[in-house]
Amino acid sequence: MQDAVNEQIKHEFISAYLYLSMSAFCGSINLPGFAKWLRVQWAEEQSHAMRLFDYLYVRGGRVVLQAIDRPPAEFKSPFDIFQQVLTHEQKVTSLINKLYDLALKENDYAAQVELQWFIKEQVEEEKNATDIVEQLRMIGDNTSALMMLDRQLSVRGAAE
Ligand code: MG
Repeated sequence: MQDAVNEQIKHEFISAYLYLSMSAFCGSINLPGFAKWLRVQWAEEQSHAMRLFDYLYVRGGRVVLQAIDRPPAEFKSPFDIFQQVLTHEQKVTSLINKLYDLALKENDYAAQVELQWFIKEQVEEEKNATDIVEQLRMIGDNTSALMMLDRQLSVRGAAE
């Protein structure tokens, strides 16, 4: 279980790194609201990694940080980015589910309770990404609608 949690810590940091790269890209194409939203998401993914980090620590386990690859730097469009966010979150959901399966198999009740928080969180993550993908689909190549969504996304607070 400890190895599997260490592996999940890596995946949360991979998510964080990917979203920070997407944020940098959005900043570079004058979409500060998208950049802000993705930067908040970066911080949130780091907090997920640290939640598991602290969990292992409290359980007397050993955190061993893994290497993570360089994230992609170029993206086709905001639509492309959010489709990738959604696909990525769906992948994270399946990883969390596998981790939960392992906790069940090993009768690790503490891990099950901890992972239930993540299962709930993934429902929220997939919904947020889906909502933005659908809005971008409706926007198409309407620049003023894209600007409006950018302004809307800029209000996402760091407290989320
Ligand atoms: Mg996460």
